[in-house]
Amino acid sequence: MLFNVYPLYDIEPVRAQGSYLWDTKGDRYLDLYGGHAVISVGHTHPRYVAALTDQLQKISFYSNSVKVSLQDELSEKLGRLSGYPDYALFLCNSGAEANENALKLASFHNGRTKVVAFKKAFHGRTAGAVAATDNASIVAPVNYNQHVTFLPFNDAAAAVSGITDETCAVIVEGIQGVGGIHVASDEFLQTLRRRCDETGAVLILDSVQCGYGRSGKFFSHQHSGIHPDLMTMAKGMGNGFPIGGVLISPKFEATYGMLGTTFGGNHLACRAGIAVLDIMQDEALIENAARLGDYLADGIRQIGGYKELRGRGLMIGIEFDFPVEPLRNALLFDHHIFTGVAGKNTLRLLPSLALGVAEADTFLEALAKEVKVVS
Ligand code: PLP
Repeated sequence: MLFNVYPLYDIEPVRAQGSYLWDTKGDRYLDLYGGHAVISVGHTHPRYVAALTDQLQKISFYSNSVKVSLQDELSEKLGRLSGYPDYALFLCNSGAEANENALKLASFHNGRTKVVAFKKAFHGRTAGAVAATDNASIVAPVNYNQHVTFLPFNDAAAAVSGITDETCAVIVEGIQGVGGIHVASDEFLQTLRRRCDETGAVLILDSVQCGYGRSGKFFSHQHSGIHPDLMTMAKGMGNGFPIGGVLISPKFEATYGMLGTTFGGNHLACRAGIAVLDIMQDEALIENAARLGDYLADGIRQIGGYKELRGRGLMIGIEFDFPVEPLRNALLFDHHIFTGVAGKNTLRLLPSLALGVAEADTFLEALAKEVKVVS
């Protein structure tokens, strides 16, 4: 029996392709959620399947005590596509683990322990990551939070006074995901960068949800022109294969034993990561995310009936002035469309970056119908 920690829908997807899922009854569903932003290039993309199948027949894993050239290939391609060719890559297995390692690196770098995080932030469930998380639904068993100060998000003045010479690291999402799709303003991110430079704090951009092309740029902070010291990634990086990573500025020096993991950078994970980047590049999926994001946002604006529309690219939050669970259920059960929520009142869309106009239209038609019913 499984440890029962997840409330589940009584739907079991057994097959998937592109933006669609099929359940055990053969019913088809449009997937506008991608299992929390994980499906980046689309389900079972033929090139992705071919790459993993080929790799399985060669070698899937050995430990980080031997050379794995696929790690170099992934690092080189990621550096080039993301615009950070001079940053080094540390590979791990999940978003929380990436954040954990980033916080560790920051502390190694300046010898400090205090962390600044932001209200409504979500950084994961491991000890360090959950300590920097401010979300009523995420429970931590003991007070891990002694080193973390939570400042208001998007408040540049509070950041100026809250980041001090004692601050080890500032960790922030370029677009808050679980916290409700709140986009960090250019001024806010630029202030964080400046204050970190002034105080010697390390600036970590948690790009686990908002990175990997989702915002219409590789990283959402690239809309503001800043360069973080560390960027954490996971979710879309492997299109469903578990892989995470930290991109690390050249000012950090690596030493043997500083970081480590058994599974991080294994052959299969690297091959999945490389396939994702190749597909993103060859199919111009970052540009598609920007275009389809605008298309969806225009359509949602025309439908109206919401309180606020937020997000960038294919990371979209529609806040209503009522709880959205019934709306989400209607979309799922009556229209066969998977969406997500953030908090009680915000519908969250995180479709594949390869979403097409026809699929966007299917959602817009369903939303128009349901919004008319509830309003
Ligand atoms: N950071 C952000 C912004 C996230 O949205 C998440 C997961 O939702 C995480 C970190 C944690 O990632 P994982 O669940 O892979 O540990």
